[in-house]
This record gives sequence, structure tokens and C-alpha cells, in this order.
Amino acid sequence: MGIFENDGGPHYGQGAGMLLGLAVGDALGAYLEFEDSREPENYLRDYQAGGPHNLPAGCWTDDTSMALAMADSLLMQRGKLDPKNMLACWRDWFRNGAYSSTDTCFDIGMTCQQAIQRFEAGVDPEECGTTGKWASGNGALMRMAPAVISAYRVEEAVELAIGQTKLTHNNPEVLMYSEAFAKELWHGKPLPEYDHLRLPKDTPRQNVMSGGYVKESYQCAWWCVQNTDSFEEAVVTAVNRGHDADTSGAITGQLAGRIYGIHGEKAIPDWMYEGLYAHEHLYDLACRLCDLSIRDSRDGWGADVPRIGLQDPVRPSSQQENGWSETIDKNHSQSETSIKKLESSP
Ligand SMILES: [Mg+2]
Repeated sequence: MGIFENDGGPHYGQGAGMLLGLAVGDALGAYLEFEDSREPENYLRDYQAGGPHNLPAGCWTDDTSMALAMADSLLMQRGKLDPKNMLACWRDWFRNGAYSSTDTCFDIGMTCQQAIQRFEAGVDPEECGTTGKWASGNGALMRMAPAVISAYRVEEAVELAIGQTKLTHNNPEVLMYSEAFAKELWHGKPLPEYDHLRLPKDTPRQNVMSGGYVKESYQCAWWCVQNTDSFEEAVVTAVNRGHDADTSGAITGQLAGRIYGIHGEKAIPDWMYEGLYAHEHLYDLACRLCDLSIRDSRDGWGADVPRIGLQDPVRPSSQQENGWSETIDKNHSQSETSIKKLESSP
């Protein structure tokens, strides 16, 4: 059970690919957010410092921060979605810069901010999500990976996906896309039952929209995956659609990371992994989520459970070189799970 059920698994490389792919797409696209789309001859193909948030190259934005907060909450709660705890983690990011690549929350979607502020005002955590047509953004898809990686059955992946979506985006259309996206991430392929949600594969590139609307993001991600044949090309194609480029990158990166994983010539390439801010921390976190998923019974899960499956996918260590440290306590306490910046900048 777990990590995409059997099917030759457990698929640690694909689980890690999903979370790392999210962050890679986010970090690559951060520079292009709010820009118009680019022509292939002008495609951005490297992490770039600057952009609308003036970030160091390889740093990621709210998409990854919210995913890391969700991962932390799921680990603390042994795979269960605890609305109060998850909102508290997101609040810790919003107010204190936990889970951020810059020690501060420098961008947040309006729907997510409203939900966190309702939570702070004492609203029942289950009622904090915005309802109605204004909550049709892509904010739940952009952070989805931890919900799918940590599940032990597809039904649980969908349940976690729906649950985490409702906390901010309690909108039927978004919930439908969250269910489709979670199931397809789990299976690592487009499912025929959702073909009607996708764009035809031969849709001209200029007709592939990449704004903040959940429908556009889902369609853009699948179009990019279906019209390329590697992680790198899928994500490069997505972020160069511009507009909500980081989130298009994060959503495409989850799909492409799930499909191509972290090993092999079509997988996340070394330059994308090694140039990513706190990549060792993200890799370790992804493995912990994989560990969480393979437990048949959550009652049996504990911090002392030995990690399995790690013999294969270990990446070369560059943690010391780039001046970052990750401090995950074995008890998964919230404060210690947040990534901490050392004094030397990367
Ligand atoms: Mg973002």
C-alpha cells in the first residue's frame, strides 16, 4: 500500500519528483510572473535572479511555501488532515515567514489570505474557505503534491485533496479540478474520465491560457506535458506562457515530476535540482511523505520507523556547499521543521 499502491512500487523517485517538480516549476517561473508569453527562441531556460519579487535565482514563492506547510502539518498529524493545524501552519508562513525561501511571506493569493484571516478571527477552520465564483483560482492545485504523496490509497489522496482545497477554495469547480488532478497525480497519467476537461493536444500554443483561473492552469499543465517528452521541456514550456507563470510551472512540475521522476534522462535534470533553493530539505521532506504513505495503519506510524526505499534515489550532497541547513526534528515539531537560513547566503 501507499506511494501509488503497488504497480511495481513503492515509487519514491516519482513521489520525490512530484514535490521537487512543484518547487522547480515555481522557482523557474517566478521570474516570469505577470509577463506576457515568450516565443520559443526567447524561452527562459535557467533560474534567474530578480523578477517581480526580486528573488535570488532558484528561490520559490507561495506555491511551494504552502505545500511545505501542508507537508509539515500532514507529518505532524501522521497523515491526517487536521484543518486547524494546517491553517495554523499556513498562518505561520503568512505572519512569520515560516516555510518561505526568504524568511518572509512576500506574496499570497487573495483567496488564501482571506481564509487565513478568517481563521485568525476565530472562524471554525472548516468554514474558513471562500465559497462562490470568486474562489475559482489555482491556489489549491499549486500546492497539491503532499496530499497525494502521503496518501496510502487513491481514495485517501482524493479525500486529502478535497479537504485541503476546501480550507481556502470551497468552490465546486475548483473541487472538481482538485479531484481530477489528485487522481491523475496518483496514477501518473491522464485519465480518460477527465479527457473532456483537457485541451485537445493539437491546440495552438497561443491559445493555451496561463492565468490564475483553475481551469486554465489545469489545461495548461496537461497541454505542456502532452506536447513535450521530458520534465525540463514540459516545465520550460509552461513557465514561458507567462502571466501566472510560477503557478503554471508548479502545477506542470508536479505532473511532470510524477511522470518522469528524479532518475533518467527525461527526469528532473541536475541543474534544476541543484540550483533550487533548499533542494536537500525538499528531497528529504518528500521522502518523509513517501514513508508516511506506505504505512497501512496510521496508528502504527511513529518517528522511529526506519526509512525504507532510500538506497536508490539519493542525490549527491551539496547541502554544506550552498550554505543551507535543514532541521527536521524526529518528532516533527512545527518550529523545528521550518527551514532555517544560515548566516551565509547561497
Ligand atoms: Mg507563486
